[in-house]
Amino acid sequence: MKKLIQNGTVVTAADTYQADVLIEGERVIAIGHNLDAGGAEVIDASGCYLFPGGIDPHTHLDMPFGGTTTADDFETGTRAAAFGGTTTIVDFCLTSKGQTLSDAIKTWHGKADNKAVIDYGFHLMIAEANDSVLEQLEQVVSEEGITSLKVFMAYKNVFQADDETLFKTLIRAKELGALVQVHAENGDVIDYLIKQALDNGNTDPIYHAHTRPPVAEGEATGRAIALTALADSQLYVVHVSCAEAVQRIAEARERGLNVYGETCPQYLALDISYLEKPDFEGAKYVWSPPLREKWNQDVLWSALKNGILQTVGSDQCSFNFEGQKDLGKGDFTKIPNGGPLIEDRFSILYSEGAHKGRISLNQFVDITSTKSAKLFGMFPKKGTIAVGSDADIVIFNPNATRTISAKTHHMNVDYNPFEGMEVNGEVISVLSRGNFVVREQEYVGAAGNGRFIRRNKFQRP
Ligand SMILES: [Zn+2]
Repeated sequence: MKKLIQNGTVVTAADTYQADVLIEGERVIAIGHNLDAGGAEVIDASGCYLFPGGIDPHTHLDMPFGGTTTADDFETGTRAAAFGGTTTIVDFCLTSKGQTLSDAIKTWHGKADNKAVIDYGFHLMIAEANDSVLEQLEQVVSEEGITSLKVFMAYKNVFQADDETLFKTLIRAKELGALVQVHAENGDVIDYLIKQALDNGNTDPIYHAHTRPPVAEGEATGRAIALTALADSQLYVVHVSCAEAVQRIAEARERGLNVYGETCPQYLALDISYLEKPDFEGAKYVWSPPLREKWNQDVLWSALKNGILQTVGSDQCSFNFEGQKDLGKGDFTKIPNGGPLIEDRFSILYSEGAHKGRISLNQFVDITSTKSAKLFGMFPKKGTIAVGSDADIVIFNPNATRTISAKTHHMNVDYNPFEGMEVNGEVISVLSRGNFVVREQEYVGAAGNGRFIRRNKFQRP
């Protein structure tokens, strides 16, 4: 069955133009005017933009953390993503020391199989880089199609890896064609600052931010970049939150290093003052890295505009305020880190970014979709609207407005960090590989329709 989307404005990372889009099966087969519809179902998109489906390069669904598990699993998380205009996610597969990589990957497939409503890939966490792990990576990259490896420089005694592990991973990634991702914060220093805070009786959520200063992020970012240069490898810094880190990435790119950076909606639109909300509400705003002083928002927007940062990930990691975040009452270190953003990432970037003129409309597409497809080995199957590409398309009404609220969102969590925020533009319908997942704002998808994506090896975009 063919589908013809008529009268919309196609927007890609490169162009904006009026055209009809003809879909057959899972792919776009023609773009133009007066296309021969030949019995196709006709969808009217007058007054709407047609965007390539959003690609969220950073999610944690069904993830255990701090003695609890994220509120959203692969079904509720990907359904909410689709409502928000995202048609592909890349989720982080956790590993632990001593576990084989294939075992860890099998566990993650088990979480996503028959649940995901949109397509998905995995990044793989590297907990240790012994000879066995380095050996196993060949199969992971070449056969499993997992071509990005994550190393944590923070969360001491939980996820944190040492510099030797990071350095060996960078060398091996270069050999195999994988992209190394780092959570860049100095975990040792943060651990010491946390102990000091608790010793002094400082237990409120705001101390989460005070014990993770911007310098600790800047230092780790700089260290990861130095090791990348030494290994002649490639690096992607996840969730960049502050000027100190942006500065390091800008310098690295200036030197021609293969270094990329991602930021997240919360760092672009929220700030450190949220952690001081009364009645423990600050716990809703606990992310690592933490929210920063407001002036950093301008630095991050300008880094996106100037190509110093390339992507925006949601870092989706939802925990209910009641029953999960409140584990940290009286001790901020026990607040599960993270928040629900998979649904509103696309919208906030459109409204706060493209609509307000901080980035262009084409940059909006590049940042929310195309660049992630390129960096993570999915382009041009994903990340654009072109003949031969997957028909992952968002029909978007730029003239509507909506108010973000936990009452109307689709995530399985009891609050929204952007509660009450009015945003311009609204997702009307979403197609994943030619099939509607959301149609006229109604869910018409199904668990299990999402497919695992074996991604290509890293190529410098
Ligand atoms: Zn994360």
